[in-house]
Amino acid sequence: MAGDIPTFNPDDSHRYNRQLTELGQRVLEATDIVCLTGAGASAESGVPTFRDAQTGLWSQYDPEELASQAGFAANPGLVWQWYMMRLNMVEEADPNAGHIKLAMISTIPPQFTLITQNVDDLHERSGIHSVLHLHGNIARFRCNDCRAEYQLIMVDRSADEPPSCRVCGGPIRPDVVWFGEMLPREAITLAEQAIRRCDLLIVIGTSGIVYPAAMLPIEAKRAGAFVVDINPQYGPTAEDADMFIQGPSGSVLPDLVDVVHTMQE
Ligand code: NAD
Ligand code: ZN
Repeated sequence: MAGDIPTFNPDDSHRYNRQLTELGQRVLEATDIVCLTGAGASAESGVPTFRDAQTGLWSQYDPEELASQAGFAANPGLVWQWYMMRLNMVEEADPNAGHIKLAMISTIPPQFTLITQNVDDLHERSGIHSVLHLHGNIARFRCNDCRAEYQLIMVDRSADEPPSCRVCGGPIRPDVVWFGEMLPREAITLAEQAIRRCDLLIVIGTSGIVYPAAMLPIEAKRAGAFVVDINPQYGPTAEDADMFIQGPSGSVLPDLVDVVHTMQE
């Protein structure tokens, strides 16, 4: 990427503070805030982002081999083991400072909606109970063929191959959205409604390259919202945003809450 990409200067605290002051004011004045999170929001909890996760044993696999119908058909055992490994990571993880401070921000405006691409439950565990999960939930399971639902206690997580459905014999899989699959209708419908009516959208820790979630910030801006992107790296979302705050969410969100509290005093 070339052009007018902001270069990160850790000493540029003046600019950072100005951004936090403006965002803090907007948080206090907004009537309807939406937050859209991606894998980066869980990174500081020890759940690697998808790109970071492609290391070690998994580095030889394309994400599509681990997260697509074709990949599951070609190698169901590999896909099962990959998701069980990620499920173990999620279960061992705790919400980080970013999750916790976001839960505090969620109580400020009259209306707040959290949309996440994450399949973990770290937002819920930090106190935000109503979360729109666009890409499903890694701790829920269903039959790949007949969609019969299964609880975690009913599946063998240390198995080499996915367990079989008791109804139709098909392979059981995590209830997550794979490449090429439809998003859960209710979650995406509610997300789009929230995006169209919000006055402030805060995007946290998403690369902005996986659609249709990547369209949401653009739709919010078109509908008149102020769009802020929080990410250590400049990317497509930052390019379209009204404000790009460069940094990890585990630092930026606590700083933002401090600024808001000072303004409230
Ligand atoms: P991503 O891995 O594509 O991007 C993560 C983003 O987080 C990056 O922009 C990175 O700069 C940022 N980040 C890293 N550390 C951060 C921190 N501490 N604070 C804030 N940001 C930080 O993740 P995504 O955008 O959520 O991906 C979108 C979707 O793609 C996923 O939800 C998933 O459904 C799908 N996907 C799945 C797989 C898979 O299951 N194998 C693989 C690839 C993508
Ligand atoms: Zn079945």
